[in-house]
Amino acid sequence: MRETEDPSRRDFLAAGLAGASAGILSGRQSAPAAENTATAVKVRYDELLPHEFRKRLTERPIAYLPLGTLEWHGEHLPLGSDAMQSEGLMVACARRFGGIVMPPIHLGPDRARPAGDGKILVGMDYAETTTPPRQLDGSCYWVPAGFHLLMVDAILAQLKRAGFRAVFADGHGPSRSSWVENLPERQVRFGLKLFGVTREVAKQWRSQMDHAARNETSLMMHLRPDLVDLSQLPSSRSTWPQGVGGADPRDATAAYGKECFEASVELVRQMFAAAGLL
Ligand SMILES: [Zn+2]
Repeated sequence: MRETEDPSRRDFLAAGLAGASAGILSGRQSAPAAENTATAVKVRYDELLPHEFRKRLTERPIAYLPLGTLEWHGEHLPLGSDAMQSEGLMVACARRFGGIVMPPIHLGPDRARPAGDGKILVGMDYAETTTPPRQLDGSCYWVPAGFHLLMVDAILAQLKRAGFRAVFADGHGPSRSSWVENLPERQVRFGLKLFGVTREVAKQWRSQMDHAARNETSLMMHLRPDLVDLSQLPSSRSTWPQGVGGADPRDATAAYGKECFEASVELVRQMFAAAGLL
């Protein structure tokens, strides 16, 4: 910025920067309720020093890959809900069973079709509960399925190179499907033991089982209650919330979210134990 610039603009920018730093700090302070950041063991890949990385990798060479996107999750949930839930679950797993959590992938595939006016409708834009079908506010970071496959392939190759022997990935419905569909082939190609919410696991899995409805809303109330605002939902039960699929999110509770969360963490433990990793 030049010195000759209007001082009021300078003040405005300075205030913005101060606000941004405060946001970063408050973000830290409002970390997932399920973890106590003051005493919690560091498990996020990007936060580890090399000696911490070596120790965790040697103890349990498991990587966790949280999948997500930026997508409309009703008026009451944040746009990054998917990766927040998958990462929250994986951080808990890593603290309990060992391993290292990768930075979440916020890019995700989804179904898509032309809207007829030169635009594209993606995912929940044309769900049954989106009336009329339209581009929902805030949905972003959609990528074609092939691009997502290549991106995950590249990550797996690097995880193998870094010394990991197993990878658990999950989150955002279409990313979850893509992951489990290609799991056997990738397992052979990369020489890694791969885990996900397969059809078999899904019978008991209880995390991210709907779209912004009771399950996801409850999980978010457990993990990040500071980011959930149920008052944004229609107060009349006769009005169904737009772009929400599943049981009524107005029945969500943090206690139910915790129950679903813990049940899924336990399933991860069972998967690892059955594979001889624990
Ligand atoms: Zn979701």
